[in-house]
Amino acid sequence: MAEYLMYTGAALDRAAALRRDEGWVAERLDDGATQIVPVWRGRNLIAAGDSPSAVTITGSPARALVRIAESVALLGMDGEVAYFAADVSAHDEAALAPLADGAEFIDLRQAGALMERRQGMLLAYARGIVYWHHRHRFCGDCGSPTEGRQGGHMRVCTGPACGRQHFPRTDPAVIMLVTRTASGACLLGHQSRWPRGMYSTLAGFVEPGESLEEAVAREVLEEAGITVGAVRYRASQPWPFPASLMLGFRAEAETTGITCDSHELEDARWFTREDIGRFEEQGLRLPRPDSISRWLIEEWLKEEPA
Ligand SMILES: [Zn+2]
Repeated sequence: MAEYLMYTGAALDRAAALRRDEGWVAERLDDGATQIVPVWRGRNLIAAGDSPSAVTITGSPARALVRIAESVALLGMDGEVAYFAADVSAHDEAALAPLADGAEFIDLRQAGALMERRQGMLLAYARGIVYWHHRHRFCGDCGSPTEGRQGGHMRVCTGPACGRQHFPRTDPAVIMLVTRTASGACLLGHQSRWPRGMYSTLAGFVEPGESLEEAVAREVLEEAGITVGAVRYRASQPWPFPASLMLGFRAEAETTGITCDSHELEDARWFTREDIGRFEEQGLRLPRPDSISRWLIEEWLKEEPA
């Protein structure tokens, strides 16, 4: 099992106090050492291959990119070097090709699992904050255009009677491995839109007026008809596809009979560790290795049966 969760481990200093100073942010943008992480229509600039790597842009091409960007956000400082995300979605891919220098804008989910941890984190962070800027170009209160502030960590409404401040949003989602300790089994489901044969943990968005534990219990009951008792937090993972924070739990089942909600799950079953060990020969598979769902399953697989 992976020792860490992909897209976590931000090594950057987010410089929350310094980024409030517009002059300091402008100096960083003008600094020849500053690294720009471009995002184009939800895709990151990646040099493909067996070990895909993030491509950042520096020097005068970086300043050119900032001038044409729809939004720019400070990701943070690595020592004296600033990293910014820049949204270049408004431009044709062909126009950006000279900057890309052979790299391509690709979906992070296609390459993330093979990337070095810090690079994956950097690209996920850039993708997430650029998406928030793009979706908040207009004020949700009065509809006037908004403008970036605080190094891209706030947007302010330009409406003369409004001026509301908007801050980056993340949507909390619970993801849980439901287990039956006594029989050494866990509950995995399959959705019709998933790759054929893939079985994964259940998950769902937290609703207003709900605690995380209540969201876990509701989702498991709605999707699989199982009542859960003890709910235990395990780990979390930013999942900017497009804007989630996955909160991972282990939940102990109090009932065993599965009733699938056809809107969500096509199938759900109890699997023992031995069953999962035979997945490959049965044409079944676990979720993607960069996901917290896989991490939750692997964590359980490594435990001794009770
Ligand atoms: Zn407004």
